[in-house]
Amino acid sequence: MELGTLLQTFPSIGPARAKALKKLGLETVGDLLLYYPRAYEDRTKIYSIAAAPQEEAVCVSALVAEAPRTSRIRKGLTVTKCRVVDGSGSAQVTFFNQDYVRYALTAGESYIFYGRMEVMGRHRQLTNPVFEREDRARFTGRIMPVYPLTAGVSNNLLAGLALPSVESCAHLVSDQLPSEVRLGRKLCTAEYACCNVHFPADQEALAVARRRLVFEELFTLSCGMAFLRSRRTEARGRVFPDRPVEDFLALLPFSPTGAQRRAMEEVRADMASGRPMNRLVQGDVGSGKTAVAACAAWLAKAAGAQSAMMAPTEILAHQHYETLSALLAPTGIRVGLLTGSMKAAEKRKVQAALAAGEIDLAVGTHALLSQGVEYADLGLVITDEQHRFGVGQRSALSSKAKTPPHVLVMSATPIPRTLALLIYGDLEVTIIDELPPGRTPVETYLVGEDKRERMYNFVRKNVSQGRQVYIICPAVEEGEGSELKAVTAYAKELAEKVFPDLRVAFVHGKLKAREKEAVMAAFSGGDIDVLVSTTVVEVGVDVPNAALMVIENADRFGLSQLHQLRGRVGRGKWQSYCVLVSGNRSPETRERLKYFTQTTDGFKIAEKDLELRGPGDFFGQRQHGLPTLRAADLAGDTRVLKEAQQAARDLLEQDPTLSQPEHRPLMERVRQLFAEDGDIFN
Ligand code: ADP
Ligand code: MG
Repeated sequence: MELGTLLQTFPSIGPARAKALKKLGLETVGDLLLYYPRAYEDRTKIYSIAAAPQEEAVCVSALVAEAPRTSRIRKGLTVTKCRVVDGSGSAQVTFFNQDYVRYALTAGESYIFYGRMEVMGRHRQLTNPVFEREDRARFTGRIMPVYPLTAGVSNNLLAGLALPSVESCAHLVSDQLPSEVRLGRKLCTAEYACCNVHFPADQEALAVARRRLVFEELFTLSCGMAFLRSRRTEARGRVFPDRPVEDFLALLPFSPTGAQRRAMEEVRADMASGRPMNRLVQGDVGSGKTAVAACAAWLAKAAGAQSAMMAPTEILAHQHYETLSALLAPTGIRVGLLTGSMKAAEKRKVQAALAAGEIDLAVGTHALLSQGVEYADLGLVITDEQHRFGVGQRSALSSKAKTPPHVLVMSATPIPRTLALLIYGDLEVTIIDELPPGRTPVETYLVGEDKRERMYNFVRKNVSQGRQVYIICPAVEEGEGSELKAVTAYAKELAEKVFPDLRVAFVHGKLKAREKEAVMAAFSGGDIDVLVSTTVVEVGVDVPNAALMVIENADRFGLSQLHQLRGRVGRGKWQSYCVLVSGNRSPETRERLKYFTQTTDGFKIAEKDLELRGPGDFFGQRQHGLPTLRAADLAGDTRVLKEAQQAARDLLEQDPTLSQPEHRPLMERVRQLFAEDGDIFN
């Protein structure tokens, strides 16, 4: 057996299972060794029947006293039972719909059972336990790995493959940590880590293995990010001749905040520097990032280059298109729109104009990346709300330029420092930490179902004062828990029963883009009083007259998402409100939502969210554009992250291209890590 041995050569793996394994990314023994358990079951301690505790699953060694009998309870339900004994007593073992047990358990033999012992008076019972013959035990009497699974792949199957693989191949896993790095931090070898992450000798060995793997992963990632950054600073960029930002500011209908002005100056300096700009502008919702983007496009145009601005949703692309067209009209900059839902003929027209250089600023969705979209002379790439795009998409847009373009990334997601270091490790960062003047913070309240009537009255009051209202619900369709307010049904109820005299409309992600646009346009035009919506209004949408947001089932949302949502109000000159409705009584939930009512600082909220939910949920599945982490947990492993980043910096200083022979395995792994998520090394 070698690392390259195909899993389908194992006797237990037929074509169907091989296919299921492939879904998990598992084709070879090597893949399997890098597939880490998500949890462990401690099956080391063996209890007697009488002494087995009830609260948790435990191992019990017992003799099968009688041959198991199967009986049919009703159609589709069989039960197989037998009695087992040891010196301390006896227990009934019961299996549902597992007829094979009749042949798997032999009377008179000893087995180790793993499961929860239920005690009812003098009667003890084990239901659906896992079991193995005592003299051939592989998965009991040890710490058992629990792997992430998929349909057709059971944990026993994976563990059964992992065990021989680890036994024969752990020593072949290449140690990519340079030995000075490994020894300097007293980390175990790759072989030890591999053995003990899959089948830990004991809890301590597991901790030792995990410490190394977490470090290794964060170290590799840090090397990759540092590598990207250094490669970029070496590249030559187009020089956009310096133009005074003041000339642009004169075009704005407002005077900029100090932070906006600083951001624009930095952008100007970047683009004049001779290196490609790679700047992240991070600013809370409503801080005025669009004007910074407009300034960048204006500078590009002055240098005779085209710009492209990519937004994550059609709604947002439209809104940017409108805002920027209006803002830039006096400058003669020609703005074009390109989105996936446009008619083919329209698209062709815009594409032709782009290729001919008749559009200076293309605003759109990822349609801007499509094959066949060509630019006459793309010099500036802007992405809005970056956490929704991956590193790969950012570079895909850049690759449409003939020379490396300037890149401006805008994000409204305040990102905790630890994550920002990783995700934006290859970017310079500007923080817009100032809101335009005259904004009063949104007042936020948490209410239960008992206050629903009062909440409706509050909606009515706001509308009577000329304001508009958002009502946000988490789900589009009934079904995902029926107590959820499904947006369509709920909108109907509101329109017909609660607010028959108001103009109520709804919008959700399953509507056609065109329908969505129409509703959003009507809302921003003031023709709708109450907009019932899912989270499609989450990013970027700007309707200053909307002064109240009600969030139904607020406990369903993470803090960062609530913050994004709340940013839709408080954009005009009126006092704005956010009302969280939740009937959830759990103390943690109450505390989380209470916290939200008490702070408006996006960074604090983000830190709290990360702490409570971890990075996966923080961004939603794979939205951060980072390679998937197998071992590390960014929320919990911050200290290790800092160490790993320092180690990566030290190493790259000494060998910037990682070309020394002892660094080759590391370079290889860095490539692999990033290759899984887009070819940013090409
Ligand atoms: P962001 O994209 O950062 O969430 P926007 O660029 O959409 O914020 O700006 C939010 C609102 O504030 C817009 O209506 C915009 O016209 C307005 N705005 C931006 N900058 C200023 C400023 N300096 N003074 C007054 N209003 C501003
Ligand atoms: Mg914005």
